[in-house]
Amino acid sequence: MSIIQLLQNNPVLFAVAVTLLSLAIGSFLNVVIHRMPKMIERQWRIEVAESGGQTAPPEPRYNLMVPRSQCPVCAHAITAMENVPVLSYFLLRGKCAGCGERISPRYPLVEMLTAVLSGFVAVHFGFSWNTAAALLFVWAMIALAFIDLDTFYLPDDITLPLLWLGLIVNINGGFVDLQSAVIGAIAGYLSLWSVFWGFKFATGKEGMGYGDFKLLAAIGAWLGWKMLPVVIMLSSLVGAIIGISLIACARHERGSPIPFGPYLVLGGLIAIFWGDAIVKYYLQSF
Ligand SMILES: [Zn+2]
Repeated sequence: MSIIQLLQNNPVLFAVAVTLLSLAIGSFLNVVIHRMPKMIERQWRIEVAESGGQTAPPEPRYNLMVPRSQCPVCAHAITAMENVPVLSYFLLRGKCAGCGERISPRYPLVEMLTAVLSGFVAVHFGFSWNTAAALLFVWAMIALAFIDLDTFYLPDDITLPLLWLGLIVNINGGFVDLQSAVIGAIAGYLSLWSVFWGFKFATGKEGMGYGDFKLLAAIGAWLGWKMLPVVIMLSSLVGAIIGISLIACARHERGSPIPFGPYLVLGGLIAIFWGDAIVKYYLQSF
């Protein structure tokens, strides 16, 4: 029996394999979350300099592969043994092997979150193309949520490819038919766009950014327009609960910005797994 057949016939083994492999993906997502905003900032600096007719000062290469990971405090190069997802963090007791500086627990957390969600995708969609597609969706969503938390910014470099990919996945009706996907992308963008301008017109303030429109457009491309009310409802609900509790705990000043991306991500993740069940439940209730 080939490995493929073995995984196909054994759902538990398949889920375990996906979970373990996704730990490495989680490790890569940490790099994306950390480096992509810096890469975009560098690109901006170069463009600003060039538009002013200057050449930007040369900087060392910096992308998702180069340079190798190092401690931000002592520049100790992270060895392969120190780079094993989750495990290394605990073996190092959460400290840099070079200088003993604390390593953020967010690194193993992102790795575990990626692994658990990916394992769940494998259980939910089984051995299928939908699992392969849904994994890409979930991984992109994790990266977007954390980048937005850090920087209040959702990079086009992730949202736009995610949108295209959603349309491609649905060409032959992966998650929804293509018509629902195209309308979903358009309606996703326009719904938040109109909320944004309505809010700005009424209050003079900006409640969210264009990245949020593109993210909801991507979610609409993947899950179809019927899922958009569910996603918006879930994100607003979770956002309101967390926002109110942050204000209640005085952790957050009223009126200071809260990124909306992580809530859209939460709504999108719930919708890809249980959206159909939620819609069905509502249609039956009313
Ligand atoms: Zn160090």
